[in-house]
Amino acid sequence: MKALIATHRTQGNGTRDFTFCVPGELVYLGAVCDRDARDPDSPGACGCARAFTGLNSGKATTTAEVGEVPLSTEDYREAVRSSLERAGWTSLGVDPEEIVAELIEIAAQHPVGTVLGRRVDDVMVRD
Ligand SMILES: [Zn+2]
Repeated sequence: MKALIATHRTQGNGTRDFTFCVPGELVYLGAVCDRDARDPDSPGACGCARAFTGLNSGKATTTAEVGEVPLSTEDYREAVRSSLERAGWTSLGVDPEEIVAELIEIAAQHPVGTVLGRRVDDVMVRD
């Protein structure tokens, strides 16, 4: 199935790119702090509004790509659920099913290999 995975492809094309994820790991759109939600480009922004979060590493990257991964939808659900639970998000009311649905919807909109960036709630194709 298609899923969003961390990639180094196109890293550095943006002057404020960063990646701390393991290439190939599953990523999701993690929580955004209030400051970055107001202005992802402010000088003091931490970068969370421009980043995807690794489900395994818990680290961030500004580049994700649509990958073909050897997982069933159930596997994908479990990967997201267990990661969010481990990170404490489910106890704060984050619904893993909503996250999975969002990820599947985003992946469905692009061919495998498309590199994506993020800006708060928007995901866009990178150059
Ligand atoms: Zn932030």
